[in-house]
Amino acid sequence: MTARMTTRSSAPVRQSSVRAHNLALVLDTVANSADPPSRAAVSAATGLTRATVSALVDDLIAGGLLTELDPPPRTGAGRPAAGLALTAAGPAGLGLEINVDYLAACVVDLTGAVRQRLTEHGDQRPAGAAEALAALGRLGARARLAAEADGLVVAGAALAVPGLVSGGLVRVAPNLGWQNVDAAALLRSVPELAGLPVTVDNEANLAALGELRVAGANPDFLYVSGEIGIGAGLVIGGELYRGVRGWSGEIGHVTVYPDGRPCRCGANGCLEQYAGQEALAADEPLAAAALGIALSAVVNLVDVPVIVLGGAFVPHFARLRDGIETELRRRVLTSGLAPVTLRAAGLEVEAAVRGAADAVVREVREDPAGWLRRTS
Ligand SMILES: [Zn+2]
Repeated sequence: MTARMTTRSSAPVRQSSVRAHNLALVLDTVANSADPPSRAAVSAATGLTRATVSALVDDLIAGGLLTELDPPPRTGAGRPAAGLALTAAGPAGLGLEINVDYLAACVVDLTGAVRQRLTEHGDQRPAGAAEALAALGRLGARARLAAEADGLVVAGAALAVPGLVSGGLVRVAPNLGWQNVDAAALLRSVPELAGLPVTVDNEANLAALGELRVAGANPDFLYVSGEIGIGAGLVIGGELYRGVRGWSGEIGHVTVYPDGRPCRCGANGCLEQYAGQEALAADEPLAAAALGIALSAVVNLVDVPVIVLGGAFVPHFARLRDGIETELRRRVLTSGLAPVTLRAAGLEVEAAVRGAADAVVREVREDPAGWLRRTS
């Protein structure tokens, strides 16, 4: 009696958090199994009882997160067990990207497969934030409707922008000419996206997370995104380092030539004046040297072993490589001990929009209980 009285207020909370934890554990176990596991195999892998696993699996199936595959043909004694897998017809993430010269939308399902992909090319600067984001919202709405016609449920959207983001606001996006833009609110003004949870993040951060998913094996790298501007995402131990105020990664404004070309930010000789998309097309050797100088500073400071060049750098990679590596060898103190690995991104130009869609999917996968609450 005493025990019941003392636990009365906390027990429901504790039970629901244990259930939330176990739902995530079961989902994660299925997602990371090489072959579709049976309920018994999930029980063995997690240490949960078979009855508990079965109840959790039933909830995950009812919520559209797992599916039970038909058992394999009978080969010996006993009844073969059905295998569990993430469903390709459940919740999905809508990734959106605005950059200086294009808009992009993509839908990724729970298994990580890209199910819709739309791009619109065109200069986004003259339109201004409200009009450009409304156009992106309409593109996103088309992707969402097509995905939902295909049996998916879009759980949320994430927007990639080439700028500094904090508290959901785009504080400054110099190459778009934006300041203090409530991008999520403007996207939701498109009727088909009203009510959808929308998060906003820096494009290089989302591209780095997208690359992490593809790269898989290496959890420590600097992702450098080449567009009109240049941004970077630093991933250490599989986690994105965002900086104390969330504004890290502005490698485009690292000084490479102090008395050099004026930059839109007000300084002189910033990397993006030599290796941004337009400068890159004009002079590859100069771009390679500037990249090598800026990247050497990063490697000397944070000791990151792998550099991944993405976005506009990908088609130029073979011709940039030597020039960048020459500077790295000259300037990185430890280059004789352990050379820095330089490679092109696996996802090319779609990394940020894909990373954005993945971010939504990852949230559902990490908190399936939250998704079940939303759909019940
Ligand atoms: Zn600058």
